Amino acid sequence: MKITVWGCRGSIPAPGPDTVRYGGNTSCYELRSDNGELLILDAGSGLRELGLSLGGKLPQSAHLLVSHTHWDHIMGYPFFSPLYMRGNKLHVMGAPHYDAPFRELMGRQMHYAYFPVRMDDLAADQEFENLREGEHQVGKFKVITRYMNHPVTCLGFRIEVDGRSVVYTGDHEPYYDIVYRQREPANDAERQHKAELEAFAAQQNQAVFEFVRDADLLICDGMFTSAEYEAHVGWGHSAMEYWVETALAANVKRLMISHHDPCRTDAQIDKLLAHFRADLRSRGEKMNLSFAMEGRSLDLAVSEVQAAL
Ligand SMILES: [Zn+2]
Ligand SMILES: [Zn+2]
Repeated sequence: MKITVWGCRGSIPAPGPDTVRYGGNTSCYELRSDNGELLILDAGSGLRELGLSLGGKLPQSAHLLVSHTHWDHIMGYPFFSPLYMRGNKLHVMGAPHYDAPFRELMGRQMHYAYFPVRMDDLAADQEFENLREGEHQVGKFKVITRYMNHPVTCLGFRIEVDGRSVVYTGDHEPYYDIVYRQREPANDAERQHKAELEAFAAQQNQAVFEFVRDADLLICDGMFTSAEYEAHVGWGHSAMEYWVETALAANVKRLMISHHDPCRTDAQIDKLLAHFRADLRSRGEKMNLSFAMEGRSLDLAVSEVQAAL
């Protein structure tokens, strides 16, 4: 399996001289099985570049998994050139929301108020599928979905093919007690309530831990440093330190920190990378750690992973 990063910026595209190396496009990853099947993760602005690289032509089997419909994860869809070519077929999957099926959520951004071409007018054949938590066979790929903690229905994906596994968290914040984080419980009933909330959060965090366990590659939402996170609790994103510790404990082989804050410069990411690598070295940890970089490919072929170990 081969993975190519087409967009790894969070929230909004951030082009410019300070982001030119790690890239300014929002979330989009290309996965290729060894037999050439295409599975795309998220339809951020990086999807436009992926479309250009395909020359407008999709392979016979092409799938798009959308973690959630926040704008930065779908804005590339109307600019995906293969959708304008008759004969192409794209299988598009994502979670429905309480008020609409997934197809409608994707189509709203192409209403005339926002975009000149309606989704139904695209020339390619688009097959939409509502996705919920569970295990799915998507072409050659086994896809396990899990609801993540984000202010909208958001799915994380565990993808297994060719004997390798990749986990993509989408946008996620560790579960926590949202009621008593700011204040102490006032009586026994509230103390009981607090204990229940803490137990639920711990159980959900443990389930996420199991979801990423032993992955060959974990692509995570590490938008904040732990210091920045304190001022952004409830925004639906994680601190990179949280994922480093989770990935180490869960025996993840490679951790790719992604969904970079739009204000994070290349120089700042270089510095964070050096810091985390030095920390891992000093602790004798062998886990491969990187920050996602637009245009970079990673081959998870068996021999390559063994060499890295
Ligand atoms: Zn996002
Ligand atoms: Zn989001």
